[in-house]
Amino acid sequence: MKDARLISGCVAPLIDWYRRSRRPLPWREQPTPYHVWISEIMLQQTRIEAVLGYYSRFLAALPDIPALAAVDEDSLLKLWEGLGYYSRARNLKKAAGVLMAQYGGMLPRTVTELKALPGIGDYTAGAIASIAYHQPEPAVDGNVLRVVMRLLACSDDVIEPKTRKAVTALLRACYPSGENAGLLTEGLMELGETVCVPNGEPACLLCPLRELCRAAQSGSATDYPVRTKPKERRRETRTVLLLRCGTDYAIRRRPDTGLLAGLWEFPNREGLLDAAGIEQALGVKLLSCVPCGEGKHIFSHVEWHMTGWLAECAEKPEGFTWADAATIRARYSIPTAFRYFQKKL
Ligand code: SF4
Repeated sequence: MKDARLISGCVAPLIDWYRRSRRPLPWREQPTPYHVWISEIMLQQTRIEAVLGYYSRFLAALPDIPALAAVDEDSLLKLWEGLGYYSRARNLKKAAGVLMAQYGGMLPRTVTELKALPGIGDYTAGAIASIAYHQPEPAVDGNVLRVVMRLLACSDDVIEPKTRKAVTALLRACYPSGENAGLLTEGLMELGETVCVPNGEPACLLCPLRELCRAAQSGSATDYPVRTKPKERRRETRTVLLLRCGTDYAIRRRPDTGLLAGLWEFPNREGLLDAAGIEQALGVKLLSCVPCGEGKHIFSHVEWHMTGWLAECAEKPEGFTWADAATIRARYSIPTAFRYFQKKL
């Protein structure tokens, strides 16, 4: 059977299965373009369980595009605090500004217009177009790639952009219109998340496509997808300071570009400093300086191995914002990377 015929043969059974088996997730209740957009951005590289609480809170605070366009950046980042990849939140606001200026506060319908908005790539544009606007546009993420590569028993490297392009073209050729477009997009994602799972044996016995699936038929599902090994992460040692003066602690805003851009952080720097090194770096005499534990945070390309110090000073060195622990918690978005140390305030 040719690849295209195999894939188009999967459409009806998959939609039928999805109608019967879908999990009741909040963004599926009212799949408006705004709801689909927010949920898809939140779900990028983030587990569903982690998104659940954030999604409801976000929509309660920012129920529509005008509210998102008008929110101040600190409140927005506070709503996003802990979800990671903060540029997603900033791009949402930027895109909302464009939507207010150019589209009357609505999301456009075509993939081309959607992809011109900040933070919206092929996948999110396809998801909004198919789920919210019922257009025959596929949305290919890692889940969908895995399912298709197993269905076809295809050994092409899924890290290669050309593989994703080929899968998108294959799917687009058999995508239905109308409500079924959205059901197919969601069915593919749901199958990848609940049945044709990554990391280990998929549950082929529960799969509506097992009769058609080449990998299942040959008992080779775990051989797919094939991917080249990603580059190893860089390991970085850092010193983190809980610098206290009276009841206030020092925080500062990170630069506007790069890792954790524009978020608040405790003073920290690369390398392992001892008490004398900390005094020298700050240019102040400390009253005391004691270790306060070790934290680790893994980003996609770098690992931070952090050693913390609780340092007391009699006068506040310049270059920081100072606030007590309750104010820091309430007002400033400190990324999860520093959560271990924030708990010690
Ligand atoms: Fe994945 Fe198994 Fe279904 Fe094939 S039969 S798509 S390998 S779960």
